[in-house]
Parts: sequence; structure tokens; C-alpha cells
Amino acid sequence: MRLVVMCCLCENVYDDMEKEVGNARWKEQGWFMAKYQLTRADIRVSHGYCPDCLRCYRTFLALPPERRGASQKEGLS
Ligand SMILES: [Zn+2]
Repeated sequence: MRLVVMCCLCENVYDDMEKEVGNARWKEQGWFMAKYQLTRADIRVSHGYCPDCLRCYRTFLALPPERRGASQKEGLS
């Protein structure tokens, strides 16, 4: 069993065995599973955000509510 941090937006996973640091550690899930010969039964997923999605998400949060789209509930101010 291996604990894997997965981005909940793009589903890339964090490879803590990767020698490169930073964004290079975020891998496409299929690639990662193949590299370590894992199946979904072998991993425990912890959800987070990869740096790219985190940046997008922060940009999204910085938008005024009326520009975030209809999914935003009203009256949360
Ligand atoms: Zn992501």
C-alpha cells in the first residue's frame, strides 16, 4: 500500500521518488501507475492540488463572484 497525493482537478499524482524537485514530481496518473506497477488497489489516495491547478484555483478565487459561473451559491459573502 502506498500513499499517493493526487491533484483533485487534473488527477496528476505526486511522485516522491522522483529525483527532480518541484513541478517535475507531478506525473500523469497512468504513467505513474505503470512506472511503479501499481493498481488502484495498491494505493491510498490523498487529494490535493498540483502547482498548476493551485495557481488556476487561486486565480479563480480572486475573480469576483459574478464571474465564477453559476455553480457559486449566492449569499456566501
Ligand atoms: Zn492539477
